[in-house]
Amino acid sequence: MKQIANEMSAVQLYKRLLTYVKPYWLVFGAVILSMLVYAGSETAMAALMKPLMDGSFVEKDPFIIKWIPIALIVIFIVRGIANFLTTYGLGWIARNVIMTLRSEMFDRLLTLPASFYDKSTSGQLMSKLLYDVEQVADAATDAILVLVRDTLTIVGLLAWMIYLNGLLSLIILLTVPFIGLLVYKISSRFRRISKTIQDSMGDVSHTSSEVIEGHREVKTFGSQQYEAKRFDKVNQLNRRQRMKKIATEATSQPIIELIAVLGLAVVIYLATLPQMLDQITVGTFISFITAMFMILTPLKRLTKLNSKLQAGIAAADSVFTMLDQQPEADTGKQQLERARGDIRFQQVGFQYNANSRKVLDDISFEVKAGQTIAFVGHSGSGKTTLVSLLPRFYSPTEGQIFIDEMDISDLQLLDLRKQISLVNQQVILFNDTIANNITYGQKEVVAEERIIAAAKAAHAWEFIQKLPEGLQTEVGQNGVLLSGGQRQRLAIARALLRDTPILILDEATASLDSEAERHIQSALENLMQSRTTLVIAHRLSTIEKADIIVVMHDGRIVETGTHQQLISKGDHYAELHRLQFQQQ
Ligand code: ADP
Ligand code: MG
Repeated sequence: MKQIANEMSAVQLYKRLLTYVKPYWLVFGAVILSMLVYAGSETAMAALMKPLMDGSFVEKDPFIIKWIPIALIVIFIVRGIANFLTTYGLGWIARNVIMTLRSEMFDRLLTLPASFYDKSTSGQLMSKLLYDVEQVADAATDAILVLVRDTLTIVGLLAWMIYLNGLLSLIILLTVPFIGLLVYKISSRFRRISKTIQDSMGDVSHTSSEVIEGHREVKTFGSQQYEAKRFDKVNQLNRRQRMKKIATEATSQPIIELIAVLGLAVVIYLATLPQMLDQITVGTFISFITAMFMILTPLKRLTKLNSKLQAGIAAADSVFTMLDQQPEADTGKQQLERARGDIRFQQVGFQYNANSRKVLDDISFEVKAGQTIAFVGHSGSGKTTLVSLLPRFYSPTEGQIFIDEMDISDLQLLDLRKQISLVNQQVILFNDTIANNITYGQKEVVAEERIIAAAKAAHAWEFIQKLPEGLQTEVGQNGVLLSGGQRQRLAIARALLRDTPILILDEATASLDSEAERHIQSALENLMQSRTTLVIAHRLSTIEKADIIVVMHDGRIVETGTHQQLISKGDHYAELHRLQFQQQ
């Protein structure tokens, strides 16, 4: 039953893949035509053997002696042109399909929700984009080549053989079911192996990308051996899977050849029986044997095709599964140019998965435009989760969130996010110039004075000025050429330039020492001016001026008030405060 289900979905995958070939039907038609010509020239080659033997050598016919070499050249020229057109045309279609699939996958990546990225590693996704797409096109190209060209060749040659001698041909045809059965048996094995090869390629790429990205951690923790062992495991697995495939390929080919050669032996035996010898000329026999041998090559390819085809099906499955992922829900209709910045959470609850515990429970608070609200609490208490509901990275599972008394789920996603700037601990910079990093996301060209003004307000101008190429300095991949504090200040400049009514600071200064933090504090204060700010800070000294402080514990709000109120209350906040004070 499962087998049938698989076959069904394989057919669906082909159909879907065909829709990608559709725009190129004209080229495709030309390819099929040149395949037909190719198959014809192959048959002509075998057929040429008969006049060559009988006419040139036995009967010594001068006309045939003169024309055979010329015919040979003509056949080979036609065959060559047909071959070129087939290969080039198919390659052209394949490269176009790969490009389309890749750009569709990339577009999909841009619209997938945060929860999708929680579940997949970047290595796995990269492997789909780089490796699986190629596999799909590779397999499809081979499939068409073999299914059409080789099948036509086989049909042409068989027809010639039947024309030469029906009885002998019948014997050859008897071997076909055996080969067919064998091919069928091997194919299901190929598909299984191909799927595991793809998975193990994903493992190899994600394990190595982790080490590449985390090379500092690997060095400081001295975990080279551990990582080497981990990599060795996936590497070994990948090799074993590959070897299984090679073994299957390597055994299937000789077995099929053996079956074919058995047929050949029978043909030779029968053709040389006294009764037969009278009917069959040398030319007929040689031409027949030539055709038989020429059939072997496309037949062999037919068996090899299966491994590719199965790999292609597995890869297509992986590509289409990714394309079928639900993009972020953007059902909101309401437009919003610029919000005032009032924010209200009403009994908001949230869980990451339907069957996991509530990470947020009964969260209600209100903050007026321009005010600052601070969230404090132990790590894991749900602060980051809470603020990530505002730009709708996730949707609350209970309750509602309002901006200016509009339910954010009614807003268009783009309009909602346009209101919010986010600065967190991990500043992501793009491999580009400082100027382009500061203006990232701006729709229009930004005048240099405005960039400089933002950089100055973010206290970033001091260090940018000193760089050899100023604003045009390249920051390297993810800004590796800058210090943590410098990156942080670029992020602040970026947020300043964006000038949104709402600002989220999630441990924006956590990775900095207190000296650097002091430096950034005034940049942050510039940024927070006249904006509604949600700030999460692990150093309580930085939030004393907040209008409201919310203390969280285990996904619930346990205390709310100003710094003074909460200190004099002498409960959770006061305790947190005392602990931190002690440490310093
Ligand atoms: P905080 O920012 O206060 O340290 P978080 O909001 O990051 O807390 O985490 C709150 C809880 O949610 C933690 O128990 C954490 O394990 C869980 N959590 C955080 N992110 C995810 C996620 N993407 N998927 C599932 N659980 C998560
Ligand atoms: Mg956090």
